[in-house]
Order: sequence, then C-alpha cells, then structure tokens
Amino acid sequence: MAATPVLTHTLGFPRMGAQRELKFALERHWRGEIDAAALEAVGAELRTRHWQAQRDAGLAFVTVGDFAFYDHVANHIQLLGCESARFGFAPDTPELARYFAMARGVQAQAHGAPGCGAGCTHAAHEGAGQSALEMTKWFDTNYHYLVPELHAGTAFSLASERLFGEVAQAQALGHRVKAVLVGPLTFLWLSKEKGDTPFDRLALLDRLLPVYAQILARLKAQGVEWVQIDEPILGLDLPAAWSQAFEPAYWQLGKAGPQVLLATYFSPLEDHLRLACQLPVAGLHVDAVRAPHELTGVADWLPGYKVLSVGVVDGRNIWRTDPDAALALLRPVADKHQGPLWIAPSCSLLHVPVSLAGEDALDAELRSWLTFATEKLGELGLLAALLDGRAGDGDPRLADARAAAASRRASARVHRPEVTRRLAGAPEGADRRRAPFPARQAVQRTRLRLPLLPTTTIGSFPQTPAIRAARAAHRRGALDDAEYQARMRAEIAHAVRTQEALGLDVLVHGEAERNDMVEYFGEQLDGFAFTQNGWVQSYGSRCVKPPVLYGDVARPRPMTVDWTVYAQSLTPRPMKGMLTGPVTILQWSFVRDDQPRSRTCEQIAWAIRDEVADLERAGIGIVQIDEPAIREGLPLRRAHWKPYLDWATRAFRIAACGVGDATQIHTHMCYSEFNDILPGIAAMDADVITIETSRSGMELLQGFGTFKYPNEIGPGVYDIHSPRVPGVDEMLRLLRRAAEVVPPGNLWVNPDCGLKTRAWPETEAALRNMVQAAGALRAEH
Ligand code: GLN
Ligand code: ZN
Repeated sequence: MAATPVLTHTLGFPRMGAQRELKFALERHWRGEIDAAALEAVGAELRTRHWQAQRDAGLAFVTVGDFAFYDHVANHIQLLGCESARFGFAPDTPELARYFAMARGVQAQAHGAPGCGAGCTHAAHEGAGQSALEMTKWFDTNYHYLVPELHAGTAFSLASERLFGEVAQAQALGHRVKAVLVGPLTFLWLSKEKGDTPFDRLALLDRLLPVYAQILARLKAQGVEWVQIDEPILGLDLPAAWSQAFEPAYWQLGKAGPQVLLATYFSPLEDHLRLACQLPVAGLHVDAVRAPHELTGVADWLPGYKVLSVGVVDGRNIWRTDPDAALALLRPVADKHQGPLWIAPSCSLLHVPVSLAGEDALDAELRSWLTFATEKLGELGLLAALLDGRAGDGDPRLADARAAAASRRASARVHRPEVTRRLAGAPEGADRRRAPFPARQAVQRTRLRLPLLPTTTIGSFPQTPAIRAARAAHRRGALDDAEYQARMRAEIAHAVRTQEALGLDVLVHGEAERNDMVEYFGEQLDGFAFTQNGWVQSYGSRCVKPPVLYGDVARPRPMTVDWTVYAQSLTPRPMKGMLTGPVTILQWSFVRDDQPRSRTCEQIAWAIRDEVADLERAGIGIVQIDEPAIREGLPLRRAHWKPYLDWATRAFRIAACGVGDATQIHTHMCYSEFNDILPGIAAMDADVITIETSRSGMELLQGFGTFKYPNEIGPGVYDIHSPRVPGVDEMLRLLRRAAEVVPPGNLWVNPDCGLKTRAWPETEAALRNMVQAAGALRAEH
C-alpha cells in the first residue's frame, strides 16, 4: 500500500464542449457572424467548465494548455514563434487571425478586401493566396494536427501570451494548475523540413531549448507547480541521434521551471524504457493500457524519489474500467514504487466524447458499461481512494463498477455462441480464392468483356442537399419508408443514367442511401450501438461520432442487395456492389476491449462475406470492398507491423474470398502512403485495387511498379478534394505515366476517391474528360 495519498490528474480534456459549442462558435466566427472577442469568450467559458469538472472529480490539478481553437500543435507554433514565413503576415495581423490563416489557408483575393488598406502588402492579396499547413494524423489516432514548417534558418522565440493567460484564468478561478506542453523533441519530430537548403530539424533543438526554458521560467513565476511535457515519440522507433538528444535536453529543462512530469503514451516504451525512467525530471507518466506489461519494468527503473503516473483508465476508448483488473495492475506497482504514485487516463481525453449525460437513447445496460471523459475523471478518484485506503471494499461505487464489469462479461448480447462457432469452424482455405489471380483474370475477362483501360468511379456520387434533407426527414419520421425509398431510387436512377451518358464502363449506384460508409453498415449489423452525442474532434471544428462496437458481430439480413440489384436492373453495363471492409469498420469505431482486435475484425469479415455472397447470388459480377483505413491501423512500431498486416489482410480475404472465380473483387484505398505495406496489399489478393495517386503525380504508383504488384490497378487520375475540373491532357499525361509502370492490360481509369463531397456539374465535367482521356490512351495501344 502506498504510504502517501495517491493523486489523480488528467493529461488533457476534450475541447469541443458537450454540445460541440466550440465547433459552432468557430464556424460562426469563420462566417464572420461573431468577432474574435466573442469566440475567445466561448473558449474561456469552455475551459472554465472543463476545469470545474476536473475539480469536482477531485483531481489534484486542473490541466492548462490542452485547449486550442484548432489544434494544440498549432498553438505551439505561435508559442514558439515559428510561424511559416510564407504567409507573409503584416505586423498588425492579430494572433488569432494568423492562427486561422495557417490552419485554413488564405484565399487569393484582390486588394481592397475588408481590412485591407491601399498599398497593403498582405501576401494573400497579391494573387496566389496560401494553402493551409499540411494536416497529419496525431500518432495512431484519428485526430489531425497541423504540421509545423521549419527551415534551416528558423529562429524561435517566446511569441504568444496565450498559455500564460490561460494559466492566470485557471488560477483566478482558484485552481491548482498543471500546465501541459508538447515536448521539444516531439515538436521537432512532428515538424517538416522545408525550403531549398537541406538540413536536419534535430539540429534546431539547440535554438529551441532556450525558448522552452523561458516558457518554463514564466510558468514558475506564475506559481505553477507542475508542467506535463508530452514526449509520445518515446513510443516510436527513433534514430539514435533522436533518442540521444533527450538526456541533454532535459538536463536543460528539468531545472528551468516547475517540476516536470514527462508524459509518454500510445505505445510501449521498449528500448526507450530506461531512458524515459532516468531522464532528469521529477516524474514520468506511462500508458498502462497500451503497455501494461511494461509497468513492472518502469517501477524497477524509475528512481524512488520520482512521481510515477500510471495511465490506467483508457483515454482512447469508451469502456468503463474494470476496477479489479485495474487494481491488480496497480497494487504491485504501488508496493514496489517508493515515490509518489499518481493515477491518470492513459493519454489525453481528447480522443473520447465529453459526457454520457444525455445519452438516454442507449439502453441502460450498455450505458452502464461506458465512460466518456467526464465519467473517466470520476473513475480516477475511486481507484486512487481504493489504493491509498481512503475507500474500502464496501464502497458503493466499487460495487457499482464491479456489477457493470460482471454484466458486460456475461451479457448474451455481447457473447453469441453462433458467432464463436462460426469462427471456430471456418473451413481451411476460407481466406483464399479458388483459383490464383491469372486464372481468375481470364475468366473475368470472358465474363465482363470490358475494354482495355476500363473506366469506373470509387462509389459515391454527390450527396446533394436534397438527399441530405430526405434522410433527415426520414429520421425525424416526416418521410415514410416508402417515400424515402422512392427518393433514393430516383437518385440511383439519375446516377446510372448519368454514368451511361458519360460512357463509363463499370457503374456504381452512387451510395445516395448512405450517411457514412461505416455507420451505414454498423446500423445494420448486430453488435454495434450508436450514441447521440458521442463526438470526437477529428480536426479543427470537424468531429466524428464513431459507432460503439460492443458485441459479437452478426448480419441479420442483407444490407445492400436491394439497392444494388435495383441499380443493375437499370443498365446492361456491369454494376459494382459497394461495401466497407472489416478493417475500416474496425478502425473507425470504438472497439470492444474484451477480446483482441483481430478477433473482432474477423467477426466483421464473416458478416461482410455473407453480403458479398448474397450480391453474387443476385447476379452482381463485381464487388468492391473499401479499405481506406488499412494503413492507419498500423502499429506505431515497425516490429508490430507484420502481425497486424497478417490478421488485417486475412480479415479482408475472409470477406472477399467466398465467391467464384468469375466474380471480380475490387478494393479501394486512399489518404496515405502505401509503398511500405505493398506486400500486405498484395496479400489481400483483390482482383483490382483503386488507389489515391493523383496528388502525388503518380509517384505513389512507382512503388507498385517496382514491387511488381501482380493484380489490376486503378490509380486515381484526379483529385476529388477540389471542385477544379482537370483537363483531358492533364489526366492523359498521368495515365501515360501509369502505363509505364503498370502493364496497360492491368490498368483501370478512375478518380482518386468517392465523389460524395462534390456537386454534379463539376463531377460530370471531370468524368467526361476522364473518359475521353481513357479513350485517347486506348487509341495509342
Ligand atoms: N466507396 C466510398 C465512396 O466512394 C469510398 C470512400 C473512401 O474511400 N473514403 O465514398
Ligand atoms: Zn477513398
């Protein structure tokens, strides 16, 4: 038993607000409806509320510095005074205006725009505008940060008062403050080297550290006792120069200000475990959800005088903590570690929704299994009290948490014997097609009779305001099923007629009836639940509401067959059935934690396999199973890639391989760099893969060529993220480059991704050009 009280804290809290207040305020501000002061007031109000929740839960400190109007890394760009020079801000541009310019880009506009006097030199007014900073996923989460742009000559300076203002705000409210910063090494690691002079961004560390030291000194002067410095890159494979940079860096920072709690999360420390334990700082936070097996090692290596903060409540998922499992993990650590023990969520709570309050539509039993950010704060208090003896076995909160864990373990809606039996009884070879690809290709050619360089699209067509309005009305009950069906069929008919008129070879139904590619399937599968307000920030003001995958997955009835068969009935051309793959459904949901992800993925795969079989039986000759998220599921450390790719690609094959050789299976991927997982992609053995490539000017395809990717490929020939209509020549150039890498007989012609965010006029114009480009290349062969 720990001698001293066990303290609780959080690494961060969601910023958006329980009702997404920040999102709505931001969007009003961007539309010019509220000014910066009004937006700042909303931010201040949200911070006040979130700190109060931390205080109410009995946390030792409130966390300050996790708030951001767009992204916390972007906040650091301003704090550290390294805004990209390319924006050319006038000296009088307010900080917040510069911030949003970097986050969202600047439209080219003429002189004389509001706020622009004669003779102004604002770069944005000189024609070209500026694109936003690049956005990338924050480690293996679905949160996107803005990538800092560094140059060989980048200088740093303490350039923003925002953090100190927030600290003062919290102190004025009577809170004890723990400030949080992204660490200097993680900041540099996440940045990108720009400019003509090649350089190594690690070399900028010496310029950066004095600014961190200044920030720490300021915080100390404000009376802040603790600063949490996040260095999650300690969970990555790092070049030696980077790992070696930690110790000297923290010799400078550990004494510059308040006591430092070094925070790591998302991934095991492995080769960095000793380093993390021995850095000259006052405490270490570790993620005991992702790396429970390292806790003993941490307790062994961490000097007895340091604070050990154990992240035992899952900050990445919405399950209530099983108190007995958590205590079983914590007790030996509490016994072993001589110094103070703190308890925290595994990482910032940014990655979970704000509160369960208001989730009344969830059934009471399922709801009792969940905790969102606010409830997770409450879990910390109970665990700490049980550990240091302030609460005992008879505590009613413990009884409640135990009852929830027991009901989840035993629930018949979680555990369905028929699903277990099906996985156990899978016939040998269920994840392999009957014939190898070349034989399938021959049969499919005879059946489908497609021209050389067949044209197709990725699935969705514009989700028009009319479609969205119909769906909303249907949900409200203002549109009955029959009328909704009729409207969606009309949309499908329109999409089919348009594709025929454009001369596309393989058609799609257009996905008008789908709200979202995961939600649509989750709603029809057993084992998924949906929250009303379970929003999580994705980037800026954008939030996603992941389904809750709580139980064994089964497909009670066909999900897409009627729509697809209807679409096929309208045309003699092949209609491609359109499904979301098991890995993507898994990746974009809150996934159960009571069995390995691989097993949950396999269950989804069997459900999708049934859908593929039903489509085949209904006469559909081509089925596309989208897996855009396959790459983002990769573990953070390379040594863990292979086991992941093995089960992920096997799940795809289970979904895909129940069909005969004449049925052509497509898959689609986007958003990422694929070259380092090409063997995995090939192992999926899809007959055709369509991938996003146009933004890289077909560069991405080079890897497929070098690797000699064996099956057919449709490299995207135009970017669907912009309304711009690409010309025939532009696409023809890309296609010629593709034809140098991929044998033309294996090449398809298609856009980069689905067209749901586009409008019809530009969609038709772009596809018309695309079909023409395909025709032109066909004539050359
Ligand atoms: N079939 C989906 C669509 O066309 C694919 C979306 C995606 O790859 N993200 O919208
Ligand atoms: Zn896509």
